[in-house]
Formats: sequence, C-alpha cells, structure tokens
Amino acid sequence: MEDLRLDPGQLGTGDMDPESFRRHGRAVVDRIAEYLANPERWRVLPAMEPGDLYRQIPPAAPSRPESMEAILADFDRLILPATTHWNHPGFFGYFAITGSAPGILAESLIAMLNVNAMLWRTGPAATELEDATLGWLARMIGLPDGLDGVINDTASASTLVALAAAREAAGLRIREAGLAGRTDVPPLRIYCSEEAHSSVDKAALTLGLGLRGIRRIPTDEAFRLDVGALEAAIAEDRAAGIRPIAVVATVGTTSVTAVDPVPAIADVCERKGLWLHVDGAYGGIAAAIPELRGVLAGCERADSIVVNPHKWMFTPIDCSALYTRHPAVVRGAFSLVPEYLKTPEGESVKNLMDYGNSLGRRFRALKLWFILRYFGTEGIADRLREHIRLANVFREAIDDATDFERLAPVPFSVVVFRHRPAELAGDEAALDAHNGRLLERINATGRYFLSHTRVRGKYAIRLAVGNLRTREEHVRGAWELIRRLARE
Ligand code: PLP
Repeated sequence: MEDLRLDPGQLGTGDMDPESFRRHGRAVVDRIAEYLANPERWRVLPAMEPGDLYRQIPPAAPSRPESMEAILADFDRLILPATTHWNHPGFFGYFAITGSAPGILAESLIAMLNVNAMLWRTGPAATELEDATLGWLARMIGLPDGLDGVINDTASASTLVALAAAREAAGLRIREAGLAGRTDVPPLRIYCSEEAHSSVDKAALTLGLGLRGIRRIPTDEAFRLDVGALEAAIAEDRAAGIRPIAVVATVGTTSVTAVDPVPAIADVCERKGLWLHVDGAYGGIAAAIPELRGVLAGCERADSIVVNPHKWMFTPIDCSALYTRHPAVVRGAFSLVPEYLKTPEGESVKNLMDYGNSLGRRFRALKLWFILRYFGTEGIADRLREHIRLANVFREAIDDATDFERLAPVPFSVVVFRHRPAELAGDEAALDAHNGRLLERINATGRYFLSHTRVRGKYAIRLAVGNLRTREEHVRGAWELIRRLARE
C-alpha cells in the first residue's frame, strides 16, 4: 500500500503517485464496467428512510489520510445502496436519462484537465470545442447555421439567461438602474402555457419580475398553447399598462410532452416585438430523428432555444445547450470585466464568462464531442427511435386494457395514464387516491420507478423511456407488474 503520510522532507506533489493512481483507477473503471453491465443488480429506488445515510457518515472529516481502498469500500457499502439508480433500465420516472460509457470516460478527462473556461485564454480548447460541438448539435437537430451557443449546467439556467436577455432587449436600463423603486418601468410580463416548466417561473422570480410577471396561457385539447388566448392576453395586459417582453414556447412539455405551435407563436412575437424563447429541453433532441425534424418547425425564428443533451442524449448530467440569434444582447445583460479578467485578446475572442451569471465554466463540450462522435448522428437517431417504439409498446398495452385510461397523446417516449376500475368510475377523488397508492406500490418493488403528474386535475402516472439499457422486456415487465398490482 502507498505511504499516505506527508513527509515534509519529501513532500512530492502531495497527490497520489502515478502507480497508485493506475491501480485505483483500474479499480474504479472495473466498478463502472461492472455497474453498467449489471445495472439491475440494484433496486432502482433504494429501500431507505430519510437520514439513513447521513447517520452513517462521521460528523467530521478524518484528520489523518485514509486509504483509497477504505474510501472505495465505503462507496460500495454506503453510497450504492443509498442511490436512486437513474442508470437502471427500469427507471421510467420524470424524463429518464442515461450516462453512457463515452460520456463517463469524457467526464474523467474533464476532471483531469480541470479547466475553468471563464475566458478564452483560460480554456481555449474548451471555448472553441464548445462552439464546434454546439454547431454539430444544431445541425443534427436542424437548427439554422449562425446561431451562437453556450453550454450551461441545466435548462433552468439556460432559460434564466434567455429571459434575462429578453429583459435586456426591452431597453429599460434594468442592468444599470434595476427594477426596485422605479416609477418609469411598468410591470413586465412573460407568457407561457399552463404546461410550461416551473423553471420559467423561477426565472421570473430571480429576475425581479415576481411570479405575477408570468401569465400562463390555456392549452388546447392536445395540451398545446392556445395562440388565440395568447394574443388576447397580450392585448389585455397592454391595455392594463403591463409591458409584455417575452413568450416561452415548449417543445415537449414536462407532464405530457406536448409541442406548442411554435410557427404561430413566432408570428405573434414578431408582430408584437416580443422575445421568443423555446424550451426544447427534452423534446428538442427528438429532431435528431430525420422524420421528426418537424418538431422544431418555427424554432429557426426563435430568439433563443434550449435543448438538453443530458436529458435524452446519453450525456452524463449536466449539459444544457442554449442557442441565441442575439449573443450581443446576452453579453449586454451579463458581461462585466473586472481588471484581473482583462486579456490581450480583448473582445476578439469569445469569453464564456460573458454569457451568464457564473464566472467559472466546466469543459462540458468534451463529453458532447465524445458522445456525438461515439454514437454518430445516425446512432443517436436510432436509439431515440427505439425509445419511442418502446413507449408505444406500453401505449398499446394501456389502450388495449379496458380498465386503464391514457390521458394524453404520445408524441415522444412518455405515456401518461391511470387505472380506472369500473367500481371507481366517476369518483375522481377515489381515482386519484387509488392511482397514488398504485404508484407507491409499483415503486416499492424496487424493480421499476415511475413518477406522476396531474392532467387537467386528474392524478396520472407517467412512464418515460430514455435509458440506453431499457429493452422491450423492461417495458413489458413494468406493464405486467402495473396490471397485476392495479387489479389486486
Ligand atoms: N424544461 C422542461 C420542459 C423540463 O421538463 C425540465 C425538467 O424536467 C426543465 C426545463 C428543467 O431542466 P433542468 O433540470 O435541466 O433545469
């Protein structure tokens, strides 16, 4: 075993020596390979109570070095059984995701370089590869050339940046003067559908617009934003002295994966001079499938659009791509260069710190590069197609069962449904409670994990396919279990 004591006479680097690194590295790689080969070894949802892990962690860090063997043994003993396994093929909750092997390898190299790409100078490869890979991603999903892209941690951050840019574009000098106490600025408003993600509301509260700064527009029978209602709301707000600044359209809403009518919304935004932001965090990636290109129709006219490779493109969390046609506006909202961050390159280069609130930036483009190259655009499309096929296997099972009800269309890989036994028909409160209990019983098995939503007020169970290792047997197995538990 290596000597872990720090001898001031022979301090060395203070880090692990190369031979030990190779040995422990092999142990880690073996674990990862084993984990990915046998993801079902673990319960998808751990059998634990809140606090169970915390109580097993000592109250203070060790004062003396510990061996990697001991640390890894505790990873196996404590962490793996206390983890919800998003890499499990029976993970069907929320938007199911997978961290693929090339992405995991890229993450190691990202950590190896430990680049902070705040400036071009502090991360030339990270900055330029980000531009190049975001160009690849844009081309893969059919976005027009010439968009400027940056990678953020999450779609929530991307939407916040986009809506900060929309606020900047309104020309109200908020950057200098803020909002508080101003009598020359009317209440500002952003529009999105009732089905839009809560990250839009969070952006409004972060940007000082308040939750009242969001107006949620009703949806049609397929849960798409109603454009007539949008126009009426904008007119009504203007008449009341409110200043509309932006519309957020969603491609693949969180609950039921609906696609808003972006071309018609873009018409409204153009006519009224509003910023159009498209949230394609989940559904936007589906445009990698050539026959589904149409899901992003109209997005070439958006002022900004977010898609998340970490949702449906096998990229280890986190990786969210934000594109805009107006990078200068984004910089106008965020760029601030203290003396110590000035460089000889000046404004001749892209400095990623200018495109959002955070100064530091991880080298996330590396994993995107690995994944786009390892799978290829056709490989990505094939896998997404397969996820959609699997979701439709489940959809057919729901549609064929007279005591189950599907609550929304299935444009992508998510099926939203409930059990509706004849004896509870018409009693909505009882149906809600029955389905809530059913979901808990499914998840308690540890074999599958599903999540829930409400659809037009009805409690609904969601099955989302998005994991590379999910096969037809998992979807059929989940259906058999759900059917049996529901009828017990
Ligand atoms: N937009 C949509 C449509 C989502 O469904 C979600 C999360 O599920 C988000 C945005 C937020 O994603 P993130 O976790 O990357 O912030």
